[in-house]
Amino acid sequence: MTNSQFPTNPLIRSIKVGNLVIGGGAPVVVQSMCSTDTCDVRATLAQIQRLAKAGCELVRVAVPNKKASQSLYQIVKESPLPVVADIHFDYRLALEAIKVGVAKVRINPGNIGSQERLKRVIDAAGARQIPIRIGINSGSLPEDILERDNFIVTPQGMVESAMREIELLDKQNFKDIIVSLKASDIKTTIEANRLFRAKSDIPLHLGITEAGLKGYGSVKSAIGIGVLLMEGIGETIRVSIAAEPEEEVKVCWWILEATGVRRMSPELVVCPTCGRLEIALVPLAKKVERILKGVKKPIKVAVMGCVVNGPGECREADIGVVGGKGKGLIVRKGEIVKSVSEKDIIAEFKSELKKLLNQLE
Ligand code: SF4
Repeated sequence: MTNSQFPTNPLIRSIKVGNLVIGGGAPVVVQSMCSTDTCDVRATLAQIQRLAKAGCELVRVAVPNKKASQSLYQIVKESPLPVVADIHFDYRLALEAIKVGVAKVRINPGNIGSQERLKRVIDAAGARQIPIRIGINSGSLPEDILERDNFIVTPQGMVESAMREIELLDKQNFKDIIVSLKASDIKTTIEANRLFRAKSDIPLHLGITEAGLKGYGSVKSAIGIGVLLMEGIGETIRVSIAAEPEEEVKVCWWILEATGVRRMSPELVVCPTCGRLEIALVPLAKKVERILKGVKKPIKVAVMGCVVNGPGECREADIGVVGGKGKGLIVRKGEIVKSVSEKDIIAEFKSELKKLLNQLE
């Protein structure tokens, strides 16, 4: 069975974000961003509730103006999740967000204005132990770096840009930092994060920016984030797709589960079907999927379509159903436990699943 909470690299700096820990070996944290107008407190809180239900652990809201910063007080107070304030340019919005108790601020020190303004933000964040995320996006690299690189966004340019921002915080001895390096191009994002990780112990927030609409954007995100996670890089993730944020959370969890980085629920393995198929596989798999909905154990469950190859092909599954002509087999780790008639497959699967779950208690 898969470990449900694979730790991340313990050598990475540990950063406290509200009641969560990012880095320092903690499991990868799932986050998303509200798409509501932050000034609409009710709508924002309702969306946060839906996100929490979907498995989101940390939520970011945009704070583009004073009214939005004033709404933060109520949002932070009632939110079931730690709230991150996303701020550009205006240091006063950052100060207000820190005052009302957000769990993290996303700013880029270089666009906050003078050293003195930056120092005020850092002092306020430091006093409340609120971390800062430096968010480097391919669309907003400093002009001199872009010019030097012939206006091509390079992984090196992105990392250099992050290092400049970190230096501004370092000068004030501020170490509570998380960094993100996002491009909409997968290769650039992967390379930038690899380069950064080779240079720094600061936790990385992974994502592919402006990944696209739900389907294609999810695939892009899964490749970019997945490759890095498989290399042990990344302490928190966000999928950025043009869809409801709950969809982003769903994809985040699929990425974590598919890479084996974090698993909270069963993994369903279904055979792709072929000419040997002996049963209506998709309806059977959907029934099994429904049964697994409330299960909170990281077990592997297989649904296979023929008795010839099925048992062998689901050897790695903790429990499985193999469909045959008018019958079915219930298997555990590839061993046949029971042969049942087709009409009893689901009931027998349920009873065997119950036994397995009891053994795991
Ligand atoms: Fe084909 Fe049987 Fe394998 Fe499914 S389990 S892909 S039906 S051989």
